[in-house]
Amino acid sequence: MQTRTGGCLCGAVRYESGGEPQFSLQCHCRDCQRASGAPHVAAVRMSSEAFRIVRGTPKRYVASADSGNDVTRVFCGDCGTPLYVQVSTRLDIVGVRVCTFDDPAWFQPEANIFFKSAQPWDHRDPDVPAFETYPGGKSY
Ligand SMILES: [Zn+2]
Ligand SMILES: [Zn+2]
Repeated sequence: MQTRTGGCLCGAVRYESGGEPQFSLQCHCRDCQRASGAPHVAAVRMSSEAFRIVRGTPKRYVASADSGNDVTRVFCGDCGTPLYVQVSTRLDIVGVRVCTFDDPAWFQPEANIFFKSAQPWDHRDPDVPAFETYPGGKSY
């Protein structure tokens, strides 16, 4: 099984993530925009069973999302790097921030989600479909 490593900017938190992404996305929701300072966030949904923190103890911030679900945002308390999110209804997956992997170059986005709040100045690849919220109205 493929194992990818990653961590935060300062190195206090390190993780390992096994397996392949279940879904590769770019999220344009306002929460991701605020939390990252960027117009969208590249993320991959990975198995939470095959994901583990191998160094440090990240902090958690829980916010209620558009969908009504609680979203836990996990980040380094020292340098502030957002590492991954977990949705209360899908504890079997973690949404890892692609650019926190040591090598983020393999990422291939399948969808733009929450495109309803995309910034007009952000660039969109026309080959990647965009959805107002989630593809197929999935509620997570
Ligand atoms: Zn850090
Ligand atoms: Zn988002």
